[in-house]
Amino acid sequence: MVYDLKDKNALVTGGSRGIGAAIAKRLAKDGAKVVLTYSGSEDAAKAVAASINDAGGQAIAVKSDAGDPEQAAQAVRTAVDTYGTLDIYVHNAGISKFAPISEASFDDFRRIFRVNVDGVYAGTKEAVDKIRDGGRIIIISSINAHSMPVPGGAMYGGSKAAVNGLVRGWARDLGRRHILVNAIQPGPIDTDMNPANGPYAEMMRKATAVGRYGKAEEVAALTAFLASDEASYITGTTIDIDGGMTV
Ligand code: NDP
Repeated sequence: MVYDLKDKNALVTGGSRGIGAAIAKRLAKDGAKVVLTYSGSEDAAKAVAASINDAGGQAIAVKSDAGDPEQAAQAVRTAVDTYGTLDIYVHNAGISKFAPISEASFDDFRRIFRVNVDGVYAGTKEAVDKIRDGGRIIIISSINAHSMPVPGGAMYGGSKAAVNGLVRGWARDLGRRHILVNAIQPGPIDTDMNPANGPYAEMMRKATAVGRYGKAEEVAALTAFLASDEASYITGTTIDIDGGMTV
């Protein structure tokens, strides 16, 4: 245990794979009880929960499509029903599609915004009366909210810029309850979404200051810090974790 998250209950959306799976495992390792959601990868999600339980933690996997506002809200109710309270809400579920505006469809745009923005809004709206004072809302955004090194990222970057706006507004709305709201903006992290052997990988690796991809566990470590009491004066901010890609 690095940060003390004992007696904290967490909800992590998109916890079946990649960054979300690493976050679920890390919060559990630091003592939190975890509900993790998935949309399609049931076996992977259950395997993440099982690995947490096998290691002595507590976790369950719940199917919830973040692109459906009612399901996003239901995941919050399930988390509260399961553990009694909610303290840490990590909005990690996300999708991307890179296509220039001449090729992208309006449906592409709406689909990305439904998962990356609508789900965050609907889930937080449900959580706001349920999350305990002193809680944390952490959104996994992206450096593409403010930096766009290649064409085609408008829909994805736009969705991440939108959630950064929510972060600043909600930090003001919830600050007097000491509910702290922040966004993490990863650069290239080796996952199914952005594999370190993918078509853009070499370009991205060279663009970082450190010359490598990040690991999901590195994003999870920052998430655990923001969830902890050590981060008690940080709210309304967006934090890059990108190996210096955008310096
Ligand atoms: P992956 O594609 O590897 O994993 C995505 C996760 O989100 C899976 O658990 C997936 O669940 C879940 N998910 C996708 N759509 C939905 C949905 N509609 N409802 C519920 N869950 C859903 O992505 P990453 O781990 O790389 O990305 C995680 C977050 O980090 C995203 O928000 C992404 O935008 C952000 N990010 C990633 C970067 C990277 O380089 N990897 C860089 C910057 C930001 P299932 O398995 O069931 O489909």
